[in-house]
Amino acid sequence: MSPARIALIVLAAGMVLGVAVGVYAYTQQTKRLESVQSDLASSTQRASSLQDSLAQVTTDRNALQDAYTAEKNKNDMFDSQIKDLGSTVGKLNKLAQTDPQLLAKYSKVYFLNENYAPIALKPIDSKYLYEPSRKLDIHMEVQDNLYDLLEDAKDDDIEILIASAYRSFGAQAALKASYKVVYGSGSANAFSADQGYSEHQLGTTLDFTTKTVGGTFSGFDKTEAYTWLNENAYKYGFVLSYPKSNTYYQFEPWHWRFVGVDLATKLHRDDQYFYDLDQREINGYLGSLFD
Ligand SMILES: [Zn+2]
Repeated sequence: MSPARIALIVLAAGMVLGVAVGVYAYTQQTKRLESVQSDLASSTQRASSLQDSLAQVTTDRNALQDAYTAEKNKNDMFDSQIKDLGSTVGKLNKLAQTDPQLLAKYSKVYFLNENYAPIALKPIDSKYLYEPSRKLDIHMEVQDNLYDLLEDAKDDDIEILIASAYRSFGAQAALKASYKVVYGSGSANAFSADQGYSEHQLGTTLDFTTKTVGGTFSGFDKTEAYTWLNENAYKYGFVLSYPKSNTYYQFEPWHWRFVGVDLATKLHRDDQYFYDLDQREINGYLGSLFD
């Protein structure tokens, strides 16, 4: 064989081998590709099945949420109906239990009778008293408001002391007699309500003073205590009964009556006094007297 022929055969054999290797490699690649494709297909299927499950769960969850919301709304409505009912009953109860005398306007012709006494009195802590050795009482429901007032005044560096609180019919009569002795009957009438005409018999009324002013109350209207009371007492439900130039009694800057925060706030806002209002309008505040 000529060398040229041998070279040709070797070349041909090489080409055949090359093609065979190529075909083999191609086949292998194709197989891998198919396997990857099949993996991918199965993954996609799993993903889609997961997605289906997720959608189902979401639907279930939404349905549950809806059911819960509907149930909750029903409960809330029921709750609020019960509360409304409770509050109506509460208001009626309070109104029925609230002594209407506590918001009554009094005059020389209409006042409490001698047997009237507040339902429940409580002693006032002696640290608030002008004369700590005396025993003074206040209506049970008013005590917290009174203490709040006194403590908040103290926080503002204002000294307010209590000179007088609840006075029974008998005590008022005795006091009146002593005023008559000291001042004569004419000025005693203007100075202190006749027994039975005094708001002190209610247990919700106080006379305030300071150490300097003392028990005669002279000059109390010039004190910081009086200014503070005018600006703040309504927040605790107290109002000045007998302001300057009232038609009932002389100006009593020391004499404050509890009428409830609602009514006191209304009076303060409208720059009115308790005795300016009609009794009918005042009675509208009886239910919220101790709120
Ligand atoms: Zn008084």
